[in-house]
Amino acid sequence: MEMANLQDLFVDCLKDLHNAENQLVRALPKMAKAASNPDLKKAFETHLEETKGQIERLDMIFERLGESPKGKKCLAMEGLIGEGKELMEEDAEPEVMDAGLIGASQKIEHYEIAGYGTVRTYAKLLGNDVAAKLLQKTLDEEGATDKKLTALAESTINIDAVEAD
Ligand code: FE
Ligand code: FE
Ligand code: FE
Repeated sequence: MEMANLQDLFVDCLKDLHNAENQLVRALPKMAKAASNPDLKKAFETHLEETKGQIERLDMIFERLGESPKGKKCLAMEGLIGEGKELMEEDAEPEVMDAGLIGASQKIEHYEIAGYGTVRTYAKLLGNDVAAKLLQKTLDEEGATDKKLTALAESTINIDAVEAD
């Protein structure tokens, strides 16, 4: 793809995020299944539904731009999900697995926060206020999810893992 300006880079970054979110739609049910703590399970299930909505927001942006969301694979998300998979293959105490799942998923959220922060900023500069608003909404959801995971870890899950066996 030829990248002549920030608009081209914007579209390229959006494609990356679109692919990342689609990878997550496949990964989150597995993470929910691997989680034992009911609040953590619920958090993954809730975020799965949010993630589907985030893909719809991206689709709306692509439609308005007259561009296709296809054509890019997010290698970082592939790697981050791969690390989660690696963890899920471990023979871990349930409380330890839960703590590990939180860590793995927060790495994912942080990647998304960086990605959405970037494209939101590009959208503003490019005068695409509709996209900026939609991307800010998703950015807020990713941030809230990250905070929720921190609260779960600090209030119970990490503590339960200290002496799990
Ligand atoms: Fe997301
Ligand atoms: Fe990526
Ligand atoms: Fe997310």
